[in-house]
Amino acid sequence: MAKPQFWNNSKRYYDFKSFLINSFGHKVYKLQIDAGFTCPNRDGTIATGGCIYCNSRFSDLREQAPLPTVKDQIANGKKLYARMRGAKKFIAYFQTATNTYAPRDKLKLLYDEALSEDDIIGLAVGTRPDCVPDDVIALFESYAGNYHVWIEYGLQSIHDRTLDSINRGHDGRTFIDAVQRTAGRGINICVHMIVGLPGETREDILETARSIATQPVNGIKIHLLLALEGTVLGTLYKEGKITMMEKDDYVCTVCDILEILPPHIVIQRLTADGYRDKYLAPDWGRNKMAVLNAIDKELERRDSWQGSRFRKR
Ligand code: SF4
Repeated sequence: MAKPQFWNNSKRYYDFKSFLINSFGHKVYKLQIDAGFTCPNRDGTIATGGCIYCNSRFSDLREQAPLPTVKDQIANGKKLYARMRGAKKFIAYFQTATNTYAPRDKLKLLYDEALSEDDIIGLAVGTRPDCVPDDVIALFESYAGNYHVWIEYGLQSIHDRTLDSINRGHDGRTFIDAVQRTAGRGINICVHMIVGLPGETREDILETARSIATQPVNGIKIHLLLALEGTVLGTLYKEGKITMMEKDDYVCTVCDILEILPPHIVIQRLTADGYRDKYLAPDWGRNKMAVLNAIDKELERRDSWQGSRFRKR
């Protein structure tokens, strides 16, 4: 398969920035919002400990109580982006914790607050696949006619044994069910997967990518597993009970994933950002640009690109 022309970019994958320019004719920026949500995998509804890599701090902003309103967070973010990059149009990104973990009417108030602000052209909401009842998906559908809408589902791995071992609190079927109920309603679906989870081989990781490739998914975020201070994973790392992925292995695995994914899936992230004050390992992961450059280089060395090994099942 040749490199697709519709990407209209110089990359070997379909990056989110290019996708937004292709869709809107100009740059669009995401404004991160912490609306104060918690998570059923932390408050005892599903579990109390949370995923083993999760830092219960949630966001820096939350530590500076009281949390600013959604409106104020948008105003502050817009000012910052306008000063730094001359940005004019934005997507309101409800990022922190499980952003559909409330009754539908409360969610509507929060999302409406964001969408009523000037220059907000879209909504992106990060959540768990076991936290999207039908009335919440219908709410997203109601926005999709007028706004650019994304639901971001945390999957991390398609393998139930891995999901169990990281205390994820849902299985792979729950993810497939959420995607099936969301698809075909004008809502863009983004999936998060983590590379480097304990006990997973490269083949396990690629099986997750192959599974995502068969789903009606529009975007993906690929995260490097980070060991952070204050997490179960961080403790395991400090006790020498787990090893973190090496950079070369990560880069090659991500390139394999990109080759497997279909060309239309937008790549929203290729590594992890991170919690500088809580960061433990892997050390090389601190330099995000170096990781991205290494991925570019490896794809160039292979003379391959996203979708070059995609096969419809
Ligand atoms: S689902 Fe997200 S917020 Fe909840 S415990 Fe896991 S990583 Fe933390």
